Amino acid sequence: MTGVVCHGVTARYNGTTVLGGVDLVVEPGEWVVVVGPNGAGKTTLLRALAGVIPAGGEIALGDRELADLRRREVAARVAVVPQTPVVPEGVAVFDYVMLGRTPYIPYWGMEGPVDRLRVNEVLERLDLASFAARPVSALSGGERQRAVLARALAQDASILLLDEPTTALDLGHQQQVLELVDGLRRESQLVVISTLHDLTFAAQFGDRVILLADGVVAAEGPPEMVLQADVVSRYFGATVEVVAGPDGPLIVPVRSSRSSP
Ligand code: ADP
Repeated sequence: MTGVVCHGVTARYNGTTVLGGVDLVVEPGEWVVVVGPNGAGKTTLLRALAGVIPAGGEIALGDRELADLRRREVAARVAVVPQTPVVPEGVAVFDYVMLGRTPYIPYWGMEGPVDRLRVNEVLERLDLASFAARPVSALSGGERQRAVLARALAQDASILLLDEPTTALDLGHQQQVLELVDGLRRESQLVVISTLHDLTFAAQFGDRVILLADGVVAAEGPPEMVLQADVVSRYFGATVEVVAGPDGPLIVPVRSSRSSP
């Protein structure tokens, strides 16, 4: 199984071009982090890859073109963790995670033992087994994020798209979720494409970083090549210092001017 191969991906909203021709190749087991300022087109790129918005250009998911796949076939290949997941009110964690099995359940059928087994395995893996009967709405932010990830993993897709998976989490839970994804992608050779606002995390977890600006790839490569102070300053309008850290560059915000006491 090959990973994701895209050539010249374009997307428009109401006639306005938001993605201007993005090329992207991601191998199984590889984690690519898409960074860029607000409005650069990161979420749109993930939506295009998941086939939820119409896109131009070529997108291949594994050995098939996205355009040739039916909805359920896409769902068996691509799992999405959206930025603001819609969690139905009152739905228990087990049933919510079972939604990830939808591509495997016949249209008019019920889930089977294999589906229940898979959901239980994923709940165990993500330390959610003790919450199985609890409504998702009654989970803490970190637990809820794990439930959303569990739903995506229950889908058994080989491509995982994560849109800002750590936004609502405290530092410890951010690390937990990212380490978990890192372990899973190595174990199961998943393609992981994620957006991340935190550039230090992007450098720590991404094999490669893609910097998107105004809907095109402005820079791409290993984190230490892309995340340089002048690049971050130019594209994010931020003042930073880049310091060598134990796991790659640390992108440290600094005050641009200091008033004297
Ligand atoms: P990012 O994820 O990098 O912040 P987005 O992909 O969300 O960027 O948005 C890229 C551009 O597309 C922005 O200018 C945004 O306002 C616009 N956009 C996003 N979604 C829609 C939509 N549903 N309708 C119209 N414009 C949109």
